[in-house]
Amino acid sequence: MYYPLTVRDFLDRAAHVYPDRVAVVDEPEQPGPSLGEPTYRELAALARAQAAKLDQLDVPVGGRVAVISQNSARLLTSFFGVSGWGRVLVPVNFRLTQPEIDYIVRHSGASVVYADASCADVLDTLDVKHKFVLGDDEDLFLRDTEPRDWAAPDESATASVNYTSGTTARPKGVQLTHRNLWLNSTVFGLHTTISDRDVYLHTLPMFHANGWGMPYGVTGVGGRHIVLRQIDGAEILRRVERHGVTLMCAAPAVLNAVLDAAADWEGEIPGRDRVRIVCAGAPPPTRTIERVMGELGWEFIQIYGLTETSPLVTVNRGREEWDDLEPTDRARRLGRAGVPALGVRVDVDVDGEVLTASNHNLDGYWDQPEETAKAQAGGWFHTGDGGYLDDKGYLVISDRKKDVIISGGENVSSIEVEDVITSHQAVREVAVIGIPDAKWGELVTALVVTDGSGVTAEELIAHCRTRLAGFKTPKRVDFVESLPRTATGKLQKFKLREPFWRE
Ligand code: AMP
Repeated sequence: MYYPLTVRDFLDRAAHVYPDRVAVVDEPEQPGPSLGEPTYRELAALARAQAAKLDQLDVPVGGRVAVISQNSARLLTSFFGVSGWGRVLVPVNFRLTQPEIDYIVRHSGASVVYADASCADVLDTLDVKHKFVLGDDEDLFLRDTEPRDWAAPDESATASVNYTSGTTARPKGVQLTHRNLWLNSTVFGLHTTISDRDVYLHTLPMFHANGWGMPYGVTGVGGRHIVLRQIDGAEILRRVERHGVTLMCAAPAVLNAVLDAAADWEGEIPGRDRVRIVCAGAPPPTRTIERVMGELGWEFIQIYGLTETSPLVTVNRGREEWDDLEPTDRARRLGRAGVPALGVRVDVDVDGEVLTASNHNLDGYWDQPEETAKAQAGGWFHTGDGGYLDDKGYLVISDRKKDVIISGGENVSSIEVEDVITSHQAVREVAVIGIPDAKWGELVTALVVTDGSGVTAEELIAHCRTRLAGFKTPKRVDFVESLPRTATGKLQKFKLREPFWRE
């Protein structure tokens, strides 16, 4: 028997098995009204009411519906209320500028746009049929009306179009199908062992690769969602304590915020031996991993992936064989991107580019057939990341292809150098880039944010010299106040390189 996999399955199951459980704790303080703490019965009713409203607006199956919002229970509802009835969700990063949002709305052809109350003014200039502010609930939900059935549910239909975070040029719309999202979130759930006992804190923006799929998976097993609108280390610790959080996903920058807050926390750190934190989006430094395990007592799990792969490609979770290793050794092993998730194939081509094939890989880039063909050439998705498989078959990401530094004819992995520099106590953040140099071609250069303790460039270079080959050791260290990042914590190295390469 063939039965199509659609994202509705997750909500249907939760509403059937756990109708009276609290599904989501919405952010209590927000510019509009909070949705409070709806149960799964209520969340399913909200999703139906949203679908009924979209019927009333004549949005067809396949029609695009954009949501520009911080994490919120209404955005979570839209994962089901929009896609669950065959329409296409376009979650938009609320931190983008007006022209960027304009571009995404036009390019995706959305006929409905919802915006959070805090960014409602972006709606003013958008040329779109229906625009609503989240929180004006009569515009969002048509209650007590059953939505029209999705007559022919299709797992190959597009469920979401996610615009990539744009560390380079114009964002591309990544088209993910119901099948992509279904398998990504269940396989992710399998590797992170989610269950109905989980309390999931949304430390990851839901707009980013659909919150890596956790909004579906956690719902499907009847776990509890705790919405977090804004990243703040101390607030994360407070929520972990208040709600008994067991699971979260985050970029390395969020780990640093939590570690900073933990240093000032009075009493025992909440969640010790209970929380597991899944990290990806940028390479986590080994020292950070060690601190998460030691200072917080949380389990550290690394994954690697991209929006284009829904995102799960590899997973690195502590295995039984490592239980008795020294913390530093365990952290070093967990510092690799990991091994392929179930059903995923990974390879590295002759140029060192990471390739992957799986049921999570995108259907295509929205309205960009040539880009799609290029990215999927030869039956593999070309990630644009440089890396290698080590002797145990673990994938190690060495750089974005564009970020590799070529110094004196040798390739230098900026990630490897950054990891060594971050292992120095006085370093809070670092970006390593190549800058033009007559002798070396590119000069390995570290831009460092320190803890203010007055560490010198010479000390940092000496620290690297004992740990790295000569050609990898930075020749220049500049101290900076902060480093530019995307909304999801990725370093924007092109911005850092720009002033050096301008001439
Ligand atoms: P995005 O599509 O915005 O999620 O970005 C995907 C990119 O994030 C990948 O191509 C990598 O460059 C980076 N990335 C994701 N996970 C990891 C990881 N575990 N280690 C290093 N880089 C990562």
